[in-house]
Amino acid sequence: MIYLDNAATTKPCPEAVSAAAKAMTECFGNPSSLHRMGLDAQLLLDSARRTVADSLGTESGCIYFTSGATESNNLALRGASAAYGRKRKKIVASSVEHASVEETLQALERAGFEVVRISPADGRFSAADFVNACDDDTVLLTMMYVNNENGYILPVPEVFSAVKRRYPHIITHTDCVQAYMKLPVSARRLNAELISLSGHKIHGGKGCGVLYIRKGVRVLPVVTGGGQEKGIRSGTEGVPMAAAMGAAVAALAPGISERWERAVQLREKLVSLMSEIPGVEINSPEDGSPYVMSISAAGKRSEIMLHYLEQRDIYVSSGSACSRGAQSGVPEQFGITGKRADSILRVSITAETTPQELEEFAQALRDGINSVRG
Ligand code: PMP
Repeated sequence: MIYLDNAATTKPCPEAVSAAAKAMTECFGNPSSLHRMGLDAQLLLDSARRTVADSLGTESGCIYFTSGATESNNLALRGASAAYGRKRKKIVASSVEHASVEETLQALERAGFEVVRISPADGRFSAADFVNACDDDTVLLTMMYVNNENGYILPVPEVFSAVKRRYPHIITHTDCVQAYMKLPVSARRLNAELISLSGHKIHGGKGCGVLYIRKGVRVLPVVTGGGQEKGIRSGTEGVPMAAAMGAAVAALAPGISERWERAVQLREKLVSLMSEIPGVEINSPEDGSPYVMSISAAGKRSEIMLHYLEQRDIYVSSGSACSRGAQSGVPEQFGITGKRADSILRVSITAETTPQELEEFAQALRDGINSVRG
């Protein structure tokens, strides 16, 4: 089996699996319970919180566990606009956000906010476009760090620091799901007040996300109830998956740059293999994340190629896996349309992917292009 769909989800690492198992078998108390079993679960949660906080260069008090990045993005955008959006009604965003941001922005538009979306020009985002779109009426600025469909790295640090200098009142949010544990993600360096993360993209397992909220920034809760997570996200905490995410961060954080170097080499290998297949085009920018590569398979429809590869036990995705086959608007934003857009495959690796796996993928892709119709 060759798994090249790591932007959709990753295999939990052994550390994550054993942390989750320990939480389920030994520390299964409710962290809110006042007895020792409750305290043990609380300690496990605190330890995961500290690990995530350390990885962002911040304090545990700024880390809020959620069910995943979809919820983190909803909480960030709905919660901050509820807290600060009485008078200021404008939100600035990139035009290539994940559905969990974009759909939430559309809901906020229906509720009376004006959303200004910044598009790339000739395939590149300009930091100045974001900064110039912000003004005194802007309440929120949201932009993802790494695009999940093609690995494009958006100029988050430049934009956020320029915007915070000129408009200190604007709340800055970044979806770092595809950047976390791949690029250094430091809350201070990014100048981000809200950061969304997901456990299952970093070998931690599904069902756990994080919202970082800078101290002093207000976010009103979306889910209300028993007041867990300091009232920001009620509901009994998912201790096993939070522990798994913490364990994955502890395992990955020390090796981010070595893993990046390995991914860069694998990407070079993949680019060279793709260049040898007639009709295959690369849609990702050269300076994007090496972990995510978008290619177009010589006009062959994505789904057909995807299932052809699946028969060879090779797993990739058609664009973004998150929208279950629905056409994404992201390729068009980068000027990719028509047959080229209809034949997109997303190949997303880990640092553990091997050159041989990429060779086998390239051979299967070549065979597929030669044998499938449409
Ligand atoms: N943002 C980005 C950039 C993503 O790639 C994803 C996952 N596809 C999400 C948000 C949603 O994360 P989750 O699956 O944890 O809800």
